[in-house]
Amino acid sequence: MSAETETFSFQAEISQLMSLIINTFYSNKEIFLRELISNSSDALDKIRYQSLTDPSVLDSEKKLFIRITADRENNILSIRDSGIGMTKADLVNNLGTIAKSGTKAFMEALSSGADISMIGQFGVGFYSAYLVADKVQVITKHNDDEQYIWESAAGGSFTITRDEVNPSLGRGTEMRLYLKEDQVEYLDEKRIKDIVKKHSEFISYPIELTVEKEVDVEVSDDEAEEVKEGEEKPKIEEVDDEEDKKEKKEKKTIKEKVTDIEELNKTKPLWTRNPEDIKEDEYANFYKTLTNDWEDHLSVKHFSVEGQLEFRAILFVPKRAPFDLFEGKKKRNNIKLYVRRVFIMDDCDELIPEYLGFIKGVVDSEDLPLNISREMLQQNKILKVIRKNLVKKCMEMFAEIAEDKENFEKFYEAFSKNIKLGIHEDAQNRAKLADLLRYHSTKSGDEMTSLKDYVTRMPEKQKNIYYITGESRAAVENSPFLEGFKKKGIEVLLMTDPIDEYATTQLKEYDDKKLVCITKEGVEIEEDEEEKKAREEEEKKYENLCKTVKEILGDKVEKVVVSNKLTDSPCVLTTGQFGWSANMERIMKAQALRDNSMSAYMASKKTLELNPSHPIVKALEAKVTADSGDRTVKDLTTLLYETSLLTSGFSLDDPSDFAKRINRMIALGLSIDEEEVADEIIEDAPAAESAETSKMEEVD
Ligand code: ADP
Ligand code: MG
Repeated sequence: MSAETETFSFQAEISQLMSLIINTFYSNKEIFLRELISNSSDALDKIRYQSLTDPSVLDSEKKLFIRITADRENNILSIRDSGIGMTKADLVNNLGTIAKSGTKAFMEALSSGADISMIGQFGVGFYSAYLVADKVQVITKHNDDEQYIWESAAGGSFTITRDEVNPSLGRGTEMRLYLKEDQVEYLDEKRIKDIVKKHSEFISYPIELTVEKEVDVEVSDDEAEEVKEGEEKPKIEEVDDEEDKKEKKEKKTIKEKVTDIEELNKTKPLWTRNPEDIKEDEYANFYKTLTNDWEDHLSVKHFSVEGQLEFRAILFVPKRAPFDLFEGKKKRNNIKLYVRRVFIMDDCDELIPEYLGFIKGVVDSEDLPLNISREMLQQNKILKVIRKNLVKKCMEMFAEIAEDKENFEKFYEAFSKNIKLGIHEDAQNRAKLADLLRYHSTKSGDEMTSLKDYVTRMPEKQKNIYYITGESRAAVENSPFLEGFKKKGIEVLLMTDPIDEYATTQLKEYDDKKLVCITKEGVEIEEDEEEKKAREEEEKKYENLCKTVKEILGDKVEKVVVSNKLTDSPCVLTTGQFGWSANMERIMKAQALRDNSMSAYMASKKTLELNPSHPIVKALEAKVTADSGDRTVKDLTTLLYETSLLTSGFSLDDPSDFAKRINRMIALGLSIDEEEVADEIIEDAPAAESAETSKMEEVD
């Protein structure tokens, strides 16, 4: 009775991916082996981890191994492991019906020029089998289920059948690749050895290769004939028998082919070796095996800690950020935890803080118990000490990277967000992380400057480090807030990353200098006595204008004051020192799920700052002094307010209202019937009238 075969359709994106893999012209196909070995290694990790708490899971197969066998007669390459295996449900879910986020992301990356060898990083490495095979069988046995055969020759579907034909695997998975005609090179012993050496040397389970060897066997003349004819293996016992019978018969040696098993990766775990004896390319190979990265690492730190607690570790900084660096709940497998050379897990959140989630590596502890559970890890003191040391070593490594400008640029481009997140979260290392910050500034040109360099350029009388935040470099570079600083030659840092808002509010100061956001109220550019006197006089002179403007704008602004920060613009809107900046308000508005109660509380309280030397402000002042009831004053003031919303980085609450006012101004500019325009202004401006009357009432 043969088992039933069920047919399944591949999920559409997976099907698309498979066609892409099959049809794209690509020469570096050998990476398929790395991917399949990496999957085997993962599966072995899983069963080993289970066995730490329940040794009986290994009863189905004691030895943990990966074995490659080439069937040259049938052009089948097989990769077998004694890992955890897959249940029928696993086969359906993991190999074809549920797409991971990486499926689409990988195809997008490919179409923008990425290399197929990046496949492993996107979590779809299995399908690389179709680079070399036109049909793949996955024979698998999980402890909790029967043995099954998954099979697909692509074309949109796969089948699953209960396995009643193959020998039992005990436990684990065998991948059978039916090689394409032009890919039979992967059956070649030497080729396989080279690929394993190149890509999989540091897999921590034995990778065995079934090899054919020629051995010399002594046989009698007769037998030598027999063997040639029948091509059967002679049995040793028979030889003995024969010899007994025909003692005087002449003996011959013949070459005989036997199969043997050769282990391809006999290297000691890299981290257990002395760093001085390890070559750069050994680290690079280890890094690639560890991460599925196709490029070398940017930086490595190999160290051991001894004393009260003992562990060894190798940490790597990659050259790029992964495609899903900040993707919500993704399982992180960046640092592998070993206990006395035994792999424990690769998703231990307690090992390293989230902002260092891009660091890859291994940690091997001498002190943790082998059968440690996830729950125990959460409160484990040893782990806390390890974590602290890892963070410390990361800081050292970053400082080392910063010594090489070119490398640091790469690093900063990829991971500046992590550094800033670290500044926000890690109070202990805040100062060290702040040394790594780089910003464009009003004086840095194309280069970026560190805070340290900024400080060395500060003139003696300057007390603070000034910065401005905004949506883009162009927006902040042309901001009216910079006018006064430019005029006085004071450097301002230009920040355009949303996370800068969070980082700077936590950082607060650097090298004992306060970090001051120049779009917030109360920023005073350092001034000498004369300037101070002039400003105070102006404040007096414009007191009345400020009062009138405040009455017209009502709740829209908190205060109206005279400013010394402007040269070319008539006014700007600053925000409260402890509330959101204009940029932060923009960021929060853009977050769809923002908490409204929070925004009511934090939303910027605006101060309108007037430029007393600007002709518009002067003229407005004259108008107000001449006739405090001037009816155009309200419209002009509102327009001034609205334009400064825009130039100060806010958005308009009511753009159509703004447009109406602008249109009236255009009409005036075009000298369209003044009466008509004036009437309309009155009609549309009842608020000014009522403000006027209420004021009169108050006086009464
Ligand atoms: P990834 O390894 O990143 O998860 P792959 O496409 O390489 O992505 O593999 C998909 C899934 O198929 C794996 O997550 C695993 O669940 C399953 N799988 C693949 N190969 C094996 C294997 N040899 N043993 C057990 N499960 C496997
Ligand atoms: Mg994989």
